[in-house]
Amino acid sequence: MCTQCGNPSVNHAPAWSRRHFLKLAGGMAAGLAFSSRALLAAGETPKPENVISPDEAFERLKTGNRRYVESAMKRHDFLAERKALIGGQNPFAGVLSCADSRVGPEYVFDTGLGDLFVVRVAGNFADEDAVASFEYAVQFLGTPLLVVLGHEKCGAVDAAIKTVKDGAELPGHLPQLVEHIRPAVEAALPEPGSLLDNAIRENVLLTVKNLKTATPVISQYVAQNKIRIIGGIYKLSDGHVEWVI
Ligand SMILES: [Zn+2]
Repeated sequence: MCTQCGNPSVNHAPAWSRRHFLKLAGGMAAGLAFSSRALLAAGETPKPENVISPDEAFERLKTGNRRYVESAMKRHDFLAERKALIGGQNPFAGVLSCADSRVGPEYVFDTGLGDLFVVRVAGNFADEDAVASFEYAVQFLGTPLLVVLGHEKCGAVDAAIKTVKDGAELPGHLPQLVEHIRPAVEAALPEPGSLLDNAIRENVLLTVKNLKTATPVISQYVAQNKIRIIGGIYKLSDGHVEWVI
């Protein structure tokens, strides 16, 4: 539970200070918060084509998804990309995706190495580790666009529905996972139509909202219009991403 916004899925305040990988950034965090993006300032742009605006990044994702839907993907030269990326990375989009094996963000958007900064967890919700990961992407890698990518027939959302609606008891750590999705299920309960489809959509919308208000780092970049955060739902049948926000 976040003490700042009350959201059960995130804990905004401590996420910034206690993530160990920011320590790996060599103490840059304290001095560079909200200033220009550290690695970019140091010239770490191995993919110059990825230094684009949030809107341009969104267009690239849409174009890549179109190629994927039509099975007309680019041929990727991984040999050259691996070499170019040894010294750093500047991905043009961050994607929060479900862990579902049927959804592969790099395939879905027909991207190469160094293009997407991907965080995956069953149910694609933003807990504090996901928030911290995207703080790193936005602050230190210059990523201009974040995407929450839900998908049709999500088993994690379905499990959350069974827990909330039917009182199902899940084994192991699953109850903790579905608690993150409970607000989306509760929001979808009164809506007409398929509860699963509506809860999947609500989960994407709520997660986008959670990321946008994730203080202090991401919310600051959103307020300055330096990044965009959008949501989409992947269609299992044809590979199309329906953009919902
Ligand atoms: Zn899923």
